Amino acid sequence: DLKMIYYVTPTYPRPEQVPELTRLAHTLMHVPKIHWIVADDQSLCSKDVADILRRTGLPYTHISSPKPYIYKGTNFPRGVANRRAALSWLQENADDGVLYFGDDDNTIDLQLFGEIRLTKKVSMFPVGLIGDYGVSSPVVKDGKVVGFFDSWPGSRMFAVDMAGFAVNIEFLKPSANMPYIAGHEEDRFLVSLGLKLEDIEPLAANCSKVLVWHTKTVKYKKPTLRVDIKKLEDVTA
Ligand code: UDP
Ligand code: MN
Repeated sequence: DLKMIYYVTPTYPRPEQVPELTRLAHTLMHVPKIHWIVADDQSLCSKDVADILRRTGLPYTHISSPKPYIYKGTNFPRGVANRRAALSWLQENADDGVLYFGDDDNTIDLQLFGEIRLTKKVSMFPVGLIGDYGVSSPVVKDGKVVGFFDSWPGSRMFAVDMAGFAVNIEFLKPSANMPYIAGHEEDRFLVSLGLKLEDIEPLAANCSKVLVWHTKTVKYKKPTLRVDIKKLEDVTA
């Protein structure tokens, strides 16, 4: 009997949103027993997003929770209000299964799903294309996580990316929370679960394989439409 994977995706409106979610949808459609929770960073659920969700044929939950206005600056915590809303939904509606935070622009190997599905408390694994080192990964010794390899330690207990861990719903405490502190969302979330280093289950062949990547799409720039009047006059003269 396969455990359900709750795949939590925060998302926000922009020209790249539909292509990103289309690509992710087409990955998730290959996965058995998956429930996609898509959390919109806006006050109403987007129709474009709803259409993509409906067409997957997957079980899904579509919620919306916009970031508080004060976080509209530059280095703001991204996707926190909406991930928090997804967490509340899970705390009220799911009593077993596995939680995974999968951003709308990441790339994930189908092999990872079979592995995270077996998470007993918290599992961890490498994430490719992160920071100056090109990878963020737990360091494993004798089958146990003993530390973290990440180009930004930033005084964190668990120096991992959002895509680098999965949590068994039974380990999701009522105290589980994610702060609005850029760079510390993952660490503080894991600390809020009361996680200890020895509880971590290393996956992906003892963290020796990369099965998920922190890919980024180049931002689309609107072309500026300008008409050169002088040239047109030359042509029509
Ligand atoms: N996100 C969001 N609201 C925002 C910016 C980002 O909900 O204002 C989501 C985004 O869709 C993605 C996640 O938060 O799923 C991480 O954002 P992004 O990929 O821009 O950050 P990066 O990967 O560069 O850290
Ligand atoms: Mn991203």
